[in-house]
Amino acid sequence: MKSQAITEYGQPLTLVESETPKPQGSEILLKVTHCGVCHSDVHIHDGHFDMGGDNKLDVRAGRKLPFTLGHEIEGEVVAIGPDVTDVKVGDLRVAYPWIGCGDCPTCNRGEEQLCNKPRNLGIQVAGGYATHALIPHQRYLLDYTGVKKGLAATYMCSGLTAYGAMKKLDVSDEERVLIVGLGGVGMMGLQFAKAMFKQAPLGADVDAQKLQAAKGAGAHEVYNPKDADALKKLLADTNGGVPAAVDFVGSEASLKFAMGSVRKGGQVVIVGLFGGAFSMPIPLFPMRAISIGGSYVGSLSETHEMMELVKAGKIDPIPVEERPLDAASKSLDDLRKGTVMGRVVLKP
Ligand SMILES: [Zn+2]
Ligand SMILES: [Zn+2]
Repeated sequence: MKSQAITEYGQPLTLVESETPKPQGSEILLKVTHCGVCHSDVHIHDGHFDMGGDNKLDVRAGRKLPFTLGHEIEGEVVAIGPDVTDVKVGDLRVAYPWIGCGDCPTCNRGEEQLCNKPRNLGIQVAGGYATHALIPHQRYLLDYTGVKKGLAATYMCSGLTAYGAMKKLDVSDEERVLIVGLGGVGMMGLQFAKAMFKQAPLGADVDAQKLQAAKGAGAHEVYNPKDADALKKLLADTNGGVPAAVDFVGSEASLKFAMGSVRKGGQVVIVGLFGGAFSMPIPLFPMRAISIGGSYVGSLSETHEMMELVKAGKIDPIPVEERPLDAASKSLDDLRKGTVMGRVVLKP
């Protein structure tokens, strides 16, 4: 098999040839047909996340080099271990990558994505920037019949992140959620909010073009936090604030806007990883009865729920650009430069 692997952090990926694994026990070998290139791959490739200011979070631990990135994996089953019963050679599947240890209270609760001993595909375990990928168990494979090839892969990260955040919200039929940050994942959030809640969502972004796109995609109303009276207008439009706001940026400014927009008893869920720090007078928590939480991708059962919405055609597809596997390094560079529209999907 061939992979485009990290051999040195921050350096271009290199072509690595290795023996194609033979699945043992419960394992399944996929021939990778498509693998999405995610912005977090850029950070792993760099070896660190920017935490704002001069702070960097080192993310080089937990994997050996050479390492194959890629956690949005779609492929064809080409070999199965002796314990595999639910999939057969020739089946087309997407792989849930947020795999845990499988034997801790968190995993037992069905929240493998939050396990402290992760075995995430393309993060700790070899991923999909390759001709083949080994999946540890059939339960991580999902059918995507009816979803465009290459598009299905992208739901395993950005789609699931958006869906997982929306699932945490408590929204009545007469209220609207606010989506802060209308980039790729935020726009996906808008799609899921439309599909999951009775009222169309509100949107906020500092980019006028993104606001217009959100309006076109079905946002009920949009706000630009750069306008001095944006928050005042939102509070008036919503009769005192929204029940929930999801911050897809995760910066000091975006969180400030999200916090200001929720009504008493409301909730703010942070998804974005832009960085920065936040402080608020403690008495305001009880006085406004507000809660703040974070959301990280989603669980396997949420992934099944999400795929049902996607298969039912309730989520408009994002633009996908297919590139050959050897364009992996260039694709990371393009993401770094911010010149990618939609999602790049490698086609080994
Ligand atoms: Zn991702
Ligand atoms: Zn675990």
